[in-house]
Amino acid sequence: MSGPDSTPPSLDPAEVADFHNTLKRSKRIIAILGAGISASSGLATFRGTNGLWKAQDVMQVATPAGFRHDPGLVWQFYTFRRHEALKAKPNAAHYALAELARQVPGFVTLTQNVDNLSPRAGHPEGQLKQLHGNLFHLRCVDEVGCGYVEEGNLKDPLTPALGTAKGEASVLGHIDRDNKPKASPLLLAGLARKNARILGDKYKEDGPSAVDLTPLKVTSTAGSEQESGVRPAPMSDIRLSSGLAKDDLPQCPKCTANILRPSVVWFGEALAENTAVEADALFKEDTDPIDLCLVIGTSSKVWPAAGFAERARKKGARIATINIDAADAKNMRPGKDWVFVGDATVVVPELLKPITSDSKLWKEKAASA
Ligand SMILES: [Zn+2]
Repeated sequence: MSGPDSTPPSLDPAEVADFHNTLKRSKRIIAILGAGISASSGLATFRGTNGLWKAQDVMQVATPAGFRHDPGLVWQFYTFRRHEALKAKPNAAHYALAELARQVPGFVTLTQNVDNLSPRAGHPEGQLKQLHGNLFHLRCVDEVGCGYVEEGNLKDPLTPALGTAKGEASVLGHIDRDNKPKASPLLLAGLARKNARILGDKYKEDGPSAVDLTPLKVTSTAGSEQESGVRPAPMSDIRLSSGLAKDDLPQCPKCTANILRPSVVWFGEALAENTAVEADALFKEDTDPIDLCLVIGTSSKVWPAAGFAERARKKGARIATINIDAADAKNMRPGKDWVFVGDATVVVPELLKPITSDSKLWKEKAASA
C-alpha cells in the first residue's frame, strides 16, 4: 500500500489518496499517451526548438508530398526513428499501464506515440489504440489497388541501402551527437488539426496554447507573418537529398510493383479509419459512463488529447494529468481534476499502485459485478 512515506516528494499525499480512492472504484478508464511518456525512455519529444529536424525538413520527411518527392529521404528519417525506438526500452509507466489493462477490462489506452513501447511492455492489444500508427508497421503505397499491410517488422535496417552508415551520412551527417533530432512540432500541430475533425466541436476553435505555438514560430520559415503558426511551412529552398533509388527501398512483396511506406500518420493525413472509429466508439452516448481519464505525457489542453479528455469529461470522468509541465494546473476543476507534475516513470506507477500491486482487489470486484 502507498502512504505518505512512499509518495514521491513532488506529489501531494492527499491528492494521491483521493486519486487512489477513485481509481479503486473505476470500471471504465481511458488513458491518453503523448510523447512525454517515451521521453523517459530516451526518445526525443519532438517539441524542442534546436534539433536537426526544423520545420522545412519535416515537410520533406513526414508528408505525402515529401514521400513523392524523395521516398529515400523519408525512409532514411524513419530508419533512424525505428533504430532509436528499437534501442529504447519500455519504462515503468508503460509497464504499469499494461498491468492496469490486464486488471481492468474496461481500461483502454489511446496513444499518440508510434514507438511501439506500449506493445513491447505487454499492453493487451485489444485495449490499445495507436492513433498515429506504428513505426514497425508497413504498407504498400498503392493502398487501393494492392492494399498490402505488414505489422511488426523489426528488421533494422529494412534494406542494405538504408543501413545506418549511409543514412546517417547523407541525412544526419551534421547532427550534434549530444543533441538528438527533435522533429516536428509542425507535424504534431497539423495532426492535431486533422484529429480535431473527428472529435468534439468545442475545441476546434481553441487550438493550441501560446506556449505550444512558441516552438512553431521559432522554426517556421514563414516567420512572423504566419500568424497562427500552425500552417505548414513551405518547402525549404535547401532540399535534403537521399540519393537513393526506388530499388534501394522496401519493396511490396504482394504487387511487386510498388514500394512500402511506414504505416504512420503523416502531416496532412487523417487517422486510419478503423482507428478513428474504434476511438470514437469509446465515447458514444449509449456506452457506460467513463469514471477516470489519465492524460500522460501531453497537455490535456492541446489537441488531440484535449478532444478525448473533453469527451471523457462529458461522460462523467475525472481527469488526471500527469506531465512534467505544470501549465495544465491553471484550468483544472477543483475537486474534479488532478494535475500530477513529475516524471511519468515515477508518477504513473505510484498512482496505479493500488491496482497493479494488489490484483486481488480487482478479481473480487469482477466477481461481484
Ligand atoms: Zn503492393
